[in-house]
Order: sequence, then structure tokens, then C-alpha cells
Amino acid sequence: MAGEPQADCLFCKIVAGEVPATVVRQTETTVAFRDINPQAPTHVLVIPKAHYPNAAALAAAEPRLAADLLREAGEVAAQEKVDAYRTVLNTGSGAGQTVFHVHAHVLAGRGLEWPPG
Ligand code: IMP
Repeated sequence: MAGEPQADCLFCKIVAGEVPATVVRQTETTVAFRDINPQAPTHVLVIPKAHYPNAAALAAAEPRLAADLLREAGEVAAQEKVDAYRTVLNTGSGAGQTVFHVHAHVLAGRGLEWPPG
């Protein structure tokens, strides 16, 4: 069923506490933790606790939860005391998505080029 934990999903395992992560924030519906391979001084991933494969699927099924994700990205930035940050939502392996549990990357603390690579 949509939103249910998936046995083979790394981020569902982080939500369940079965895989360790450096959690920086948690709400009733979301978890934010440091990326294991940081691409900037601040690199935090914000995920919904519920499993959706990508941002569009999440927004279609649970628009309020999609909004929670974006609000939490801002809360992470505030907590990290950065005033500029980039939120990245990769969708599809061709765009660099490697974990198919929707996650917003929050990147900050260095100059971020445009367009992104
Ligand atoms: P994607 O490439 O947009 O799907 O992002 C997946 C991110 O998850 C990558 O930036 C990885 O470095 C990160 N990642 C993979 N495994 C872990 C983990 O166990 N803890 C924290 N971050 C992870």
C-alpha cells in the first residue's frame, strides 16, 4: 500500500532505527539526517517517514506531507544557521536518484553554482 514501509528500502530502515544515521531533526512525519557522503559543509537529507518513491508520487498522494518536507528543509537551514541553501529532489536514476524513498537534499555552506551539473 502507498506509504507503507518497504523491506528493501534503506531510508525506511533509517526511519525504523535499523540502520544508524546522524539525525539532526525529527517531527511526527519527517526525519532529517546528515548525508553519509556530504557534497557541502551542510548536507542533510529530509525524508518523510512514510515511503514514497519520489517527490511527485508523494505530492500526489499526500500534499500536506510534501509541504512538511519543504518546511523541514527550511527548519534544517535555520538550525544549521545558514541563510542560503539549495534543496534538491532528484527523480529517476538518469537525474542521479539512487535511493527510491523521496528525500530532499539540503545543501549549504559553500558557493553553489548555477546551473547545477
Ligand atoms: P540521491 O542520489 O538523490 O538518491 O541521494 C541519495 C543520497 O543518500 C546520497 O547523497 C547518498 O550519499 C546518501 N546516502 C546513502 N546511504 C546513506 C546512509 O546510510 N546514510 C545517509 N546518507 C546516505
